[in-house]
Amino acid sequence: MAQTPEARSRIMRAIKSRDTKPELLVRSLAHRLGFRFRVCRKDLPGNPDIVFARLRKVIFVHGCFWHGHDCGKGVRIPAQNRSYWNEKIVRNARRDEAAQAALAALGWKVAVFWECGLKDEKMVVARLREFLGEQSGQRPLKHPPQTGKPKLARQPPIRSGTISTKATSTG
Ligand SMILES: [Zn+2]
Repeated sequence: MAQTPEARSRIMRAIKSRDTKPELLVRSLAHRLGFRFRVCRKDLPGNPDIVFARLRKVIFVHGCFWHGHDCGKGVRIPAQNRSYWNEKIVRNARRDEAAQAALAALGWKVAVFWECGLKDEKMVVARLREFLGEQSGQRPLKHPPQTGKPKLARQPPIRSGTISTKATSTG
C-alpha cells in the first residue's frame, strides 16, 4: 500500500513538468499582446505566476491536478495513496483561496487560468484581453490614435524576441 519514495517522486516529477508549460503559454501570449509583467513576485500572497503591476492585476496559471480543479480532466489522482494526494490537493486549493482573498484585500484583481482551458489559444487571448484590457484603455496591438498631448510616454509594445526570464531580473 505504501508507495515507495521513488515512485512518489517519479509521479510528482511527471506532474510537475506538465504543470509548468501552461504558465509559459499564458506568459508568451500576454507578452505577444504587448503587456508588461513580472513573474513570481515573492512579496505578493500566493506568489502569482504573472504580475501586471501597473494594472494591479495578477494571473495564476493552475495545473488542474495540483490545484484540485473539478473539471474532471486534470484530476487523476493516483489510485495508490489516494488520501495522501487528496490531502495535498485540498491543502493547495485552500491556500489558493486564501491567497486570492488576500490579494483582493490589497486591491489586486485576480484571474485564474486553468490548465484545461488553455488548449484553445484564441480563447486564452480573448480572456487575457478581457481581463487586462477592460479598464486600462491599453490596446497594444492596435495603433492608438495620436492625441497630440504626449504627457505620458507610452512604451512601445515589444513585437518579437524572447519572452523568457527578462522580467525576473529585478524581482
Ligand atoms: Zn481543469
